[in-house]
This record gives sequence, structure tokens and C-alpha cells, in this order.
Amino acid sequence: MRFGDGAVTVIAGPCSVESLEQIVATAKAVKAAGAVMLRGGAFKPRTSPYSFQGLEEEGLRHLAQARKEIGLPVVTEAMDAAQLELVCKYADMIQIGARNMQNYTLLREAGRAKFPVLLKRGPSATIQELLLAAEYIMNEGNYRVVLCERGIRGFDNYTRYLLDLSAVPVLKELTHLPVIVDPSQGTGKRKYVGPMARAGVAAGADGLIIEVHPDPERALSDGPQQLTPQEFRALMAEIDPLSRALGRAVQSTARAR
Ligand code: PEP
Ligand code: MN
Repeated sequence: MRFGDGAVTVIAGPCSVESLEQIVATAKAVKAAGAVMLRGGAFKPRTSPYSFQGLEEEGLRHLAQARKEIGLPVVTEAMDAAQLELVCKYADMIQIGARNMQNYTLLREAGRAKFPVLLKRGPSATIQELLLAAEYIMNEGNYRVVLCERGIRGFDNYTRYLLDLSAVPVLKELTHLPVIVDPSQGTGKRKYVGPMARAGVAAGADGLIIEVHPDPERALSDGPQQLTPQEFRALMAEIDPLSRALGRAVQSTARAR
């Protein structure tokens, strides 16, 4: 699995792992559409303690099974340092979520784990703070870090967050680290995911992470922003020629594995 070699790397999957059937069906659909990595949360950082918190280790087992059956590497979130060992046992990449971007113990431990990390920008973090968070990981000798712009807190709540696409060229100038864009958390609304995914690629992102659910209306988290497999397929059909027009290519599973 490579990020940042000029290709557009697309990660897709549900917000949360809900069942084995759900994650396997989604993995199959997103792979067929061109995704090269599977996402899905087993430990979910929810705003409300009364919302679905994730299937935890059972969810990790489902992700590992989906990887085995479908053949996509897996990225999933660890919310604290105590969960790291467990998550590393099942996943191929650890997500450090927006809410944990400044959890310095977690950052340091993720560095020591020498495991690939997807580090998301905190909703109120400056670009400088994101880069310094990445330094915490790299200072432990772990350079396999991918940055993710997923929106910052704005004053308009028509979209869930304000997806700061100007961070992409800025980060590309300031660091050699790959930068990907999450238009799903960024907009919070299905109909804006496609336009902002295209805009992310146009801004120079090294990849995208997109939430896809077989039945978004019934999703246990982030239903309104998840694409159906059909919508995802249609989006990938747009991303491909767009990338080519920009002199890039969408990374295919043939290259990824
Ligand atoms: C997610 O990827 O589902 C998620 C919770 O992301 P973030 O940390 O960007 O909010
Ligand atoms: Mn989500």
C-alpha cells in the first residue's frame, strides 16, 4: 500500500463496522468500484455517549475477515493508547481521529508502534498544530504518516464542518507527507461529498477517504453523509478521468498489492 507517489489513493467503507455481512458487502462493492483500502470504525468517538459506540474487538475481527475475503488492507481508529496494541493486531493502518489529534500519549505510542498512521486534522487545529502532531509520531522513528483534512469548525452549519481544501496545497508545500481529504466528515451531507471529493483531487490531494454504506438510511452512525455503493461507483467514474486530466491516475488494486 502506497500513498503519495503521484497517484490518487481511494479509501472507502462505512463509518462504523456494524456486522460481518455489512463490512464484507461494503468491502466487495468499494473494491469493485476502485477503492484500494477499506475503512470502518470499531471504536467510535461519538459526540453523545448515548450513540452507538462501535463493536470494538468484534468489529476488528469483522474487518480482518473482510480483508481476508475481499483482499483490501484496512484502516480503523484507535481512540487511546490502551487500544493500540489490539487495533494493530487486526488493522493495516491506524486512524488517529480528529478528536484525538492532540492526544500526545496516543501520538507517541503510535510512533513507537511503527505502524502506518492516518492522522486527521482536529476541527479547531491550525495547520501548524497538525504538523506538530505528526512530529510526535515521527520523533519516535515512525515516518509512515498520512495527513487528512476533514474539515474545521466554521460558523455556518449548513455543512457539518468547513472543509479546508486550501490546507492541501499548504501542507504539500510544508511537508513531504501525503495528504488526503475526507469529504464525508467534511460536509456531513451525501449530496456534497462528490463535489468536494472532486475538488480535493483538483487541489492536489494524494487520496480520498469516503464513507460508503450498503443502506445509509439504516446506518448506526453518520447515515446522512454515507454514499450508497451505486453513488460511490458513479463518483469513482468521475474521479478517474478527472485525475487523468490532471496528469495523475487513480491507484488500482493491481498496483496497491
Ligand atoms: C470517522 O472517520 O468516522 C471519524 C469519526 O472521523 P473524524 O475523526 O475525522 O471525525
Ligand atoms: Mn464517520
